[in-house]
Amino acid sequence: MTTAQGDYVLKVDGFCPVCEQDSTFAAKDPWLRDHFLCLNCNSQPRERALFSVLTQLRPDWRKLAIHESSPGTAASRRLQDQASGYLASQYDPSIPWGSTHERGWRSEDLERQTFADASFDLVITQDVMEHVFAPDRAMREIARTLKPGGMHICTVPIVNKEAPSVRRARRMADGTVEHLLEPVFHGNPMDPNGSLVTVDWGYDIAAYWDAVSGLSTTIFTIDDPGRGIQAEYIEVLVSRKNGLPDLSGDVAPTPAPAESAVRKLARRIKRRLTH
Ligand SMILES: [Zn+2]
Repeated sequence: MTTAQGDYVLKVDGFCPVCEQDSTFAAKDPWLRDHFLCLNCNSQPRERALFSVLTQLRPDWRKLAIHESSPGTAASRRLQDQASGYLASQYDPSIPWGSTHERGWRSEDLERQTFADASFDLVITQDVMEHVFAPDRAMREIARTLKPGGMHICTVPIVNKEAPSVRRARRMADGTVEHLLEPVFHGNPMDPNGSLVTVDWGYDIAAYWDAVSGLSTTIFTIDDPGRGIQAEYIEVLVSRKNGLPDLSGDVAPTPAPAESAVRKLARRIKRRLTH
């Protein structure tokens, strides 16, 4: 049932894919992406979309080797609590890359990771890929650290619905940041100043990622109030390693090439001359 009650703009009873129980989803603000929360686990719609895709594609996720970059959501906590092979990393230059902070995270630069090749069944990023300066390098590193058949499952706001992806900011050789568009920041649990948005992604994101990483990306769009999955910009992207199907096997004979226009004309002239 979709209803508005009291000071809620939306309140729906349903089943939460993150905490995996019957719950109520409710929003007191019309911007559902941030405010349509599970009253049990506090998850947002994009987390429930990610978990729906995760549990659909890899119902055995609890047993898998998982790397999540820059966690901080209810979905991250669920992964950490339930999956014994879960490893969290943060971009934390205060300790050496590859070392583990006393609070539990491993310090990793997504663009230059210290993990061995083929380490993970799953790499998870939630609203991270709009903040990396070199998404091509980050995607190549994610591909390198995935096992064959592994997947990068992620949420990232595709804000340029009708337009190509656009870079908003870039790093310069001297380490400074040049803003190509008005700076936009998103909340970041690791940094009180927030995270700068470096790229406004469009739907060309899948083709771009595949071209730079060799992965095969599918975009999932879910709109299901019964699972609390209703909001703007909550697509889930799944990039598979060795993910293209084998569609070979067709053994029909190759059709003869069509007669060229010149040959056709020559044949007609020859026929005229001989009759
Ligand atoms: Zn929940």
